[in-house]
Amino acid sequence: MQLEFFGAAGEVTGSCHILRVAGRALLLDCGLIQGGHDAPARNRLPFPFDATTIDAVVLSHAHIDHCGRLPLLVKRGYRGPIYTNKACADLLPILLKDSASLAMRDAQRNEERNGERTEPLYDLEDVEVALRQIVPIPYDTQRDLLPGVAVRVRDAGHILGSSSVELWATEGGERRKLVFSGDLGQYDTPILQDPHRFESADLVLMESTYGNRLHRGREDTERELGGILAQAERDRGNVIVPAFAIGRSQELLYLLAKHYAEWRLSRWKIFLDSPMAIAASRVYWNNPDRFDEETTRLRESFRGMPPLPNLVLSESPEDSRAINHIRSGALIIAGSGMANGGRVLHHLKHNLDRRECHVVIVGFQAAGTLGRQLVDRQSEVRIHGQRVPVSAQIHTLGGLSAHGDQDDLLRWYDSFSGRPPVYLVHGEVQSAEGLAVKLRERGAQATVTRPGLKIDLVDLRAMARD
Ligand SMILES: [Zn+2]
Repeated sequence: MQLEFFGAAGEVTGSCHILRVAGRALLLDCGLIQGGHDAPARNRLPFPFDATTIDAVVLSHAHIDHCGRLPLLVKRGYRGPIYTNKACADLLPILLKDSASLAMRDAQRNEERNGERTEPLYDLEDVEVALRQIVPIPYDTQRDLLPGVAVRVRDAGHILGSSSVELWATEGGERRKLVFSGDLGQYDTPILQDPHRFESADLVLMESTYGNRLHRGREDTERELGGILAQAERDRGNVIVPAFAIGRSQELLYLLAKHYAEWRLSRWKIFLDSPMAIAASRVYWNNPDRFDEETTRLRESFRGMPPLPNLVLSESPEDSRAINHIRSGALIIAGSGMANGGRVLHHLKHNLDRRECHVVIVGFQAAGTLGRQLVDRQSEVRIHGQRVPVSAQIHTLGGLSAHGDQDDLLRWYDSFSGRPPVYLVHGEVQSAEGLAVKLRERGAQATVTRPGLKIDLVDLRAMARD
């Protein structure tokens, strides 16, 4: 009975862990590695296990750094079930098809540049096969997945359909309960319910994205966003928000609808410039059973989308290009969230060198991405091979993050009785170390994981490396 870490150990992307119980192997997540020039090459490497020997996959949520290599797993021979929450299953086709399109475009670009045939990481057919292997499961219901392995998914409050996973492993008369946090949301976040409160575990596997940082409070954050929009109106510029299609975009629309009158938004033209975010928004509003109380109340008046009379859903590339001509009064929400691809690059290219424009960063920016360069206040960046000076005003709104901060993470851990040992994943080393220090102050045995680390689940200790 053992657990081994392959991805998101000492970094934030590429989430992938494997549980081996009674001769069976269960994969927790199979995410894409993102950010950094070596990410495409790392994604192409063989898995550190044989895909055909995996018996089941449990997926925590639909973000691509958790699900993005599932089609590759299938392409390399995995034929078993992929269990995930029902709302997550609704979002997956949107994300995985987009990911395949990006992979195919990358391969084509490579081919044009180098003149040699490049196989895409995976294609739309691989995605279709992977989607047929999805088995939707409800929250809060225990289910036997394999001989010796039972599972129950709980709301993680991170994005729609996101789960923390409870796993019971039984082998040779020993039974252990493992809780994998998945990605954890902030408490009191709009739309979604709070992360589930656990009580017991023998071992906790926990994310640590913001393990060493605190977000600004929710009300302050909303006030700050209102202030940025007021300033941008005075500056007569545009506002660009590189937004994650799933989660942040819906939250932003929700906040804009909530403060429509107060922030005088009728003076703006609001663009949701992302077919993926538009599709995801429809899935969000069609899953009202997962909403928190406030959203459930407000939803009565939403009828399909939040009530923003000046919201333009920009679906086609022509719709998107038309926005480039607008010099002021446009609030543009466009992917990708870390500005490492997608339509937002065009908007940044047209607006970054203009002092009157504002860029609002609303989520985590991995090392090596354009978004991270903006957060780090580089005076010049490269977009599509072109040098662009950064004169626009850059704002980082940490309070809108889909991830809980250090206090949220500790609050989540504190719900366990008896201080179970905890292994930290999904955080850059500094963040994970910062959280480990706080957990140790509470008397918990906290370990920052590294790739290849194995835990013996019977005695709950790291195994010696062979
Ligand atoms: Zn996530």
